[in-house]
Amino acid sequence: MSWRRCMTSGRSRPVVAAWLGLGLLLAACILPGTAGAVERSARGDLKRVLILHSFGREFRPWSEYARSIKAGLEQQSPWPLDIQEQALLTARFNNPGPEAPFVEYLHSLYQGAPPDIVLSIGAPAARFVQRYRGKLFPDTPMVLAVVEERLVDRVDLTDNDVVVSVRNDFMVVFDNILRVLPETKTVAMVIGASPLEQFWIDEVKRELKPLGNRVDLVWYADLPFEEILKRAAKLPPHTVLFWGLMTVDAAGIIYESDIALRSLHAVANAPIFSYQDPFFGGSTVGGPMQLTAETSRKTVDAAMRILGGEKPTAIKYEPIEFGAAKYDWRELQRWGISERKLPANSEILFREPGVWERNRWQILLIATIILVQTGLISGLLHERQRRRAAEVEARQRFADLAHANRYATVGELTTSIAHELNQPLGAILTNTETAELMLNASSPDIDEVRQILADIRRDDHRASEVIRRLRSVLKKRPFEIKEVELNDTVREAIGLVRAVADGRSIGLTYEPAFADMHVKGDPVQLQQVVLNVVINAMDAVSDAAIELREVRVSTARASNRAEIRIADSGSGIAADDLTKVFDPFFTTKPQGMGMGLAIVRTIVEAHHGTIAAENQPSGGALFTVRLPIVR
Ligand code: ADP
Repeated sequence: MSWRRCMTSGRSRPVVAAWLGLGLLLAACILPGTAGAVERSARGDLKRVLILHSFGREFRPWSEYARSIKAGLEQQSPWPLDIQEQALLTARFNNPGPEAPFVEYLHSLYQGAPPDIVLSIGAPAARFVQRYRGKLFPDTPMVLAVVEERLVDRVDLTDNDVVVSVRNDFMVVFDNILRVLPETKTVAMVIGASPLEQFWIDEVKRELKPLGNRVDLVWYADLPFEEILKRAAKLPPHTVLFWGLMTVDAAGIIYESDIALRSLHAVANAPIFSYQDPFFGGSTVGGPMQLTAETSRKTVDAAMRILGGEKPTAIKYEPIEFGAAKYDWRELQRWGISERKLPANSEILFREPGVWERNRWQILLIATIILVQTGLISGLLHERQRRRAAEVEARQRFADLAHANRYATVGELTTSIAHELNQPLGAILTNTETAELMLNASSPDIDEVRQILADIRRDDHRASEVIRRLRSVLKKRPFEIKEVELNDTVREAIGLVRAVADGRSIGLTYEPAFADMHVKGDPVQLQQVVLNVVINAMDAVSDAAIELREVRVSTARASNRAEIRIADSGSGIAADDLTKVFDPFFTTKPQGMGMGLAIVRTIVEAHHGTIAAENQPSGGALFTVRLPIVR
């Protein structure tokens, strides 16, 4: 019995109820003849509901329907309810025993105090209340709930009955099986042995006739459930299990709740299909099925209307069809059923959160970090590319500038070069004339002529050498790295300016290191360094007295560095200018460009070297170039 609602409604007015109770008690003591009336009035609007179960209170699927109906009643009833539940035990036996004792029990229970409404759950309970209505509840309205259309006993229906029936369509169930698992060859039919289950075996067989030979139906109805479990564990491929009912097996063993289904699920090597919502969620794959919600909603609706005074004849419902297909995601995964095979409007439940759902924030965070990182990396790459392009351009500009600077330098050397060329060319002319004269003689001295010719060749070589050096300095070509012997490279550069020095009466000396010094670099650019610094030195001494005009160039080895020192006897560099002389456009000369030393420093640094300017204690400037030695 359920007294919950009565208790709840009583608690809301405790003081009034206490006084009322005391008053009634006194009245009952003083006026014994009025006791029945007092009792009725204390019950107030209390509604007594009898729920009659078919097999017991915990047999699925009916237990789930009953639970849902009870919850609906308690939720929607405006009256306090007294819900009493009875179970028709006889229905669960394979050979039902006599019903009389149970009828007597109910009779004595409800005689003189019938319930306000009877709700039967399932076909056996409906049959029972219809059969014993006259004796037990002749005037009580009834709602016959959860009865399959085919099991409604229409002959015995009265004006006091409302039917909430369902319609099972087994072809729909099998269509679903063959849709999601088209390879299916055999369906093992799990069903119990009670009279109700026997009825369904015949019905299902009849209904599935149109399937013909498409699938083989194997019936387990005459097997004890233990045996069914054994077979279910070793089913051949392309077999599925159809779960009908299992209230009682062929051995007479009763299975409450969904114990049987759970044991079957634990051992079965094939997917299980059922058409009942209460079996869905843990064991069966799913598909179109009877949904408890719709049946319980209609049953509660009927009960409320009847309890509210409406005539049962006025309440009619169409049989409830299967609801939209539902599937258990876990079973779909287990049996490899693709979601693409499911009907369009189907619902997938129990989906386990994937890596994405479980780690959404972490993934988002990582993705953001990766995105930011990618952005940064591509930004940096772009920047690097830009810098490279800028470097290439700068190098190109510098090469152009250095080239222009060499032209300027050579311009300054024109006199010297002309002088250097003049000498051998003049000697060649003189020697040629001498040789001609000698050959005109009657007996020319051939040995002498040969000697003259050798001199001519030597002078020609000298002239060619000047041209070669000039051309190599003026050649426009990219920065070229090779191993260079520094002593010779410096000597060659000095050779280019020697004539200038002579012309200006400057004592230009060169003192190479004793041993060869090899550095890595571009010989033309290294010569440009020497030329620029030496020409500056010559400029610096040009104003000095002739005997004081000196430029000394030397090379030396200092540990792993090669040094080129260019010292002059000029007036030196002003202390403030020592740090500025290498800046571009710094010049103290009226016609100066201020680019010579800037180019020198750039070339030296490109060779991983250094250049320093200082004033010598004895006067004059000293420039020291240091380059890494390779050997
Ligand atoms: P420019 O020769 O066109 O002036 P440079 O860059 O070659 O450009 O030289 C910059 C300046 O450094 C010169 O104007 C001069 O003031 C100074 N300088 C360079 N070499 C010497 C030196 N040997 N003695 C004194 N001053 C020097």
